[in-house]
Amino acid sequence: MSEEADLRSKIVRLGALLYNRQLAHGSAGNLSARLADGSILVTPTNSCLGMLHPDQVSRVSAAGELLDGDPPSKEAFFHLAMYEERPRTGAVVHLHSTYAVAVSCMCHDCTDDVLPPLTAYHAMRVGKLPLVDYYRPGDRALADAVRKTARNAHSMLLANHGPIVSAKSLEQAIYTYEELEETAKLFFILGDRPTRPLSAQALAELNAAFPS
Ligand SMILES: [Zn+2]
Repeated sequence: MSEEADLRSKIVRLGALLYNRQLAHGSAGNLSARLADGSILVTPTNSCLGMLHPDQVSRVSAAGELLDGDPPSKEAFFHLAMYEERPRTGAVVHLHSTYAVAVSCMCHDCTDDVLPPLTAYHAMRVGKLPLVDYYRPGDRALADAVRKTARNAHSMLLANHGPIVSAKSLEQAIYTYEELEETAKLFFILGDRPTRPLSAQALAELNAAFPS
């Protein structure tokens, strides 16, 4: 199977997995993956991640021009900003999953990292989770805000909206997204109870043992 056909079918399979796990609902959320020639496969506009077909998946140039398939998601422009800013990125996942969106609607004193490092897996996979200011859907200024934040973070949370996560592969991006959602769930389960996030020393040891 060609690289493109393989990635198209992977987007369909993993989209259904996310939908069935209730991490995506309705036509919300989008997945993308970069091909070796620099073009990008992205889920189509108004599509349900649970019911995709490989031929429908859009292929766009790095500048966003439609090359093949259905018209891309209206949110494709911030996927492109992530790829542009992070050359090693192979895939981007953006969903509106309940617990992560709930965190995005809270007031945060510090927006550099809006989820505590409760577990080693969150620290290793997600790392810092900066909050990006709110922009109305479709506002191109969001691409600039995402690009700026992507200089120092591979994961981020859009205020009153949801996370964007990038990684080398689609599988890795999805594992990271799932870790983020599970940590957000833990954050609410713990609520006001005193918690013990990983210390700066524990985080430094993790970074030394598992450099990204
Ligand atoms: Zn969205």
